[in-house]
Amino acid sequence: MSENTHTHAFQAEVRQLLDIVIHSLYTDKEIFVRELVSNASDALEKLRHLQLTEKEIFEVEEPLEIRITTDETANTLTIADSGIGMTREELVENLGTIAHSGSKKFMQALSEAGQKESALIGQFGVGFYSAFMVADDVKVYTHSWRTDADHLVWSSDGRTGYDIDEAPGQKRGCRVVVHLREDQKEFAQPHRIKGILESYSSFVPFPILLNGERVNTVEALWRKPKSEITDEQYTEFYKFIGKAWDEPRYRMHFSADAPLEINALLFVPKENTELFGFGQMEPGVSLYCKNVLIDDKPAGLLPEWLRFLRGIIDSADLPLNISRESMQDSALVRKLNRVVAKRFLKFLDGEARSDAEKYRDFYTKFSRFLKEGVATDAENKDAIAKLLRYESSMTEPGELTSLDDYLTRAKDGQDRIFYLIGDNRAAIEAGPYLEAFQARGLEVLYLTEPIDDYVIRSLGRFEEKTLVSADRADLDLGEPTTPAETGEPLPEDRLTGLCDFIAGEIGDLRVEKVEAGNRLVGSPAAALNPDEFLTAQMRRMMQAMNPDEAPPPLKVRLEINPRHDLIRKLDAARDTDPELARLVAAQLFDNALFAAGLLEDKKSIIARGYDLMDRALKSQP
Ligand code: ADP
Repeated sequence: MSENTHTHAFQAEVRQLLDIVIHSLYTDKEIFVRELVSNASDALEKLRHLQLTEKEIFEVEEPLEIRITTDETANTLTIADSGIGMTREELVENLGTIAHSGSKKFMQALSEAGQKESALIGQFGVGFYSAFMVADDVKVYTHSWRTDADHLVWSSDGRTGYDIDEAPGQKRGCRVVVHLREDQKEFAQPHRIKGILESYSSFVPFPILLNGERVNTVEALWRKPKSEITDEQYTEFYKFIGKAWDEPRYRMHFSADAPLEINALLFVPKENTELFGFGQMEPGVSLYCKNVLIDDKPAGLLPEWLRFLRGIIDSADLPLNISRESMQDSALVRKLNRVVAKRFLKFLDGEARSDAEKYRDFYTKFSRFLKEGVATDAENKDAIAKLLRYESSMTEPGELTSLDDYLTRAKDGQDRIFYLIGDNRAAIEAGPYLEAFQARGLEVLYLTEPIDDYVIRSLGRFEEKTLVSADRADLDLGEPTTPAETGEPLPEDRLTGLCDFIAGEIGDLRVEKVEAGNRLVGSPAAALNPDEFLTAQMRRMMQAMNPDEAPPPLKVRLEINPRHDLIRKLDAARDTDPELARLVAAQLFDNALFAAGLLEDKKSIIARGYDLMDRALKSQP
C-alpha cells in the first residue's frame, strides 16, 4: 500500500453477492472466463465506437485485441484488453456496486425465489464478480481512453472491500489479474483455458491471443451460409450475443438483398423473464453494418413488442458513422424494422404450422408479447393475429385453435367470429350465452386473459370477418338449427306483462330493457351487454386501475326465455303470490348479472337467497 491507496467498502448488495459467489458450490466455475472475456470484448466494442466520434483517445495506436496469459508458477490467469478502460470514478461505480442487469436480476431472484443460489448463478450470471468463484485476489489494472485519466489498479480479495492505487505505466484498457485459489489451479493451465475459449470465442469480434498465440478467427456468423454453421455454434453465439444462459427455442437466420441488404440472426429465448416479475425485458437485437457494431440497443430497430428477441441485424446499407440520435428517425432503420418484423412473423407462422406442439410451448410463455403487438402495432396486427390461439366451444379442453382454423369450420356465409370473455373455460361454459350458439352450430372462442378483451377489440376484424362478443344485446343469430326447448312459450300478452313486471321490480337505473328472446335454451334468463365497449372485463380493468373510484353505472338488457319452466312459474306467481314473484324477479336478475361477471354488489344476492330458501322450506309439509 502506498500513501495514495484509497480503501473502499463494497456496497452491501455486492458483499452479499460475493459471499454467495465465494461459497457457492456451483460446478461450472469456468464461466468466469467467459464473463471476463465478454467484458473485454464490450470494452473494445465501445472503444471502436469512440474512434468514430472522439478526436483524442489515449494510446490510439494500440491494436484492439484481448491478450490472455496463464502463469502456473504465480498461479494467475490474466485477461488484458485495449478497450475503453475505467477512470477512478468508473472503477468505484462499476466494480463496487451492482450496476449491471445480470447481477441485479440475480439478487432479485435470490430475495424472491428462495432458490438454490448455485442454480441461479447458472441462470443469470454474475458478471465480473464471478472471478471470485476461483480467486482469492483479483487486480484490475486500468487506464481509461481519456487522455487525462490516471493509471490505476483496483484490488480486492472479494470480502469486504477493495483498494484503488496508482499503477504507473499501465496501458489503455483493462488488465485483470486473477490470482487463483489453491483448489482452482487448473485455470492457470494453458490447455484448460484454451478448451474454454474454443467453444465460443470465435464470436468475439476481436482477436484473442492466448500466451501470444491467436486462438480465434474473428467471424461474423450471421454472414456465413447456413449450411456451414452447426447447431452448437448457433447456440454458443446466442449465449454470447444475448448474454444468455439458456438455450434458444427458435432461431431465424436470413439474408436478403432487396429492398435492403440484410443479414439477420434472431433468437427467441427459452424463458420469458417478464413472467418472473423482472419488469420489461430490454430489447436485445443489435445493429451492425458489415460486421461492425453500430449500436447494441438501438431504439426503434424492431417494434417494441418484439423486445424478447435476441440477436443481430446487419445491414450494409447503413452509414457507419450514423449517430444514435439520428438513427431513431432514420428512414433506413424504419425500413429495417418493417422488413425484419414481417420476416419474423412469417417465420413464426411457418413454425406454428410445422410443429404445433413446439409452438404451443412458445405461445404459453410468449403470447403476452403477441397480444401486445396486436394492440400496439397497427402495421403488423393482421399478421400477428394469425399467431393467436384460443380455446373454443369446438376444441377439447386445453386444446387451442387459430383464427384461421376457426374460419375453416365457420358456416357458409358466416361473416362474424364470435367470442366470449370469462375467467376460464368452465365459467364461460356455465354461463347462459353459449347455448344459443351451440344450438346453431356456431363456434365461440373462449378469451380467458384479462387483456384479451382489449386485444380482440383492437383487432376488430380478421380476414374481413368482424369479431363479435357473444354476449352482445343486438345479435341476430337467426333460427336455431337444432330445435330449442320444446315447451310452449308464454302467450304474448302474459309475456309483455311479465317483462314489465320484472322491469318495474328492478328499476330503469339498472335495466335498460327486459324482453323475451330466442337465444336461450337451458337458462331462464341472461344479462346482455348493451354497451359494446364497457364489457365486464373492461369494467374490472378500470376498477383495478382506479380502485377508489366508483365504477360507472351499469345498465344491462335482460333477455328471458319464454319457454323456460321457471319463467312460466314466475309468471303465474305474479297472480298467486306477488311478494314471492318480486323476490324471484330480483334474484333472477342478480343471477343473470353474476353469470355475466357483472354483479358488483354481492350482498343482496346472498341475503335474498336465504330468504328464498326459507320460503321453500316453509312450504314443506
Ligand atoms: P456487465 O459487464 O454485465 O455490465 P460486470 O459486473 O461484468 O457487468 O461489469 C460491470 C461493469 O464494469 C461493466 O458494465 C463495465 O462498465 C465495467 N467493466 C468490466 N470489465 C471491464 C473492462 N474490461 N473494461 C472496461 N470496463 C469494464
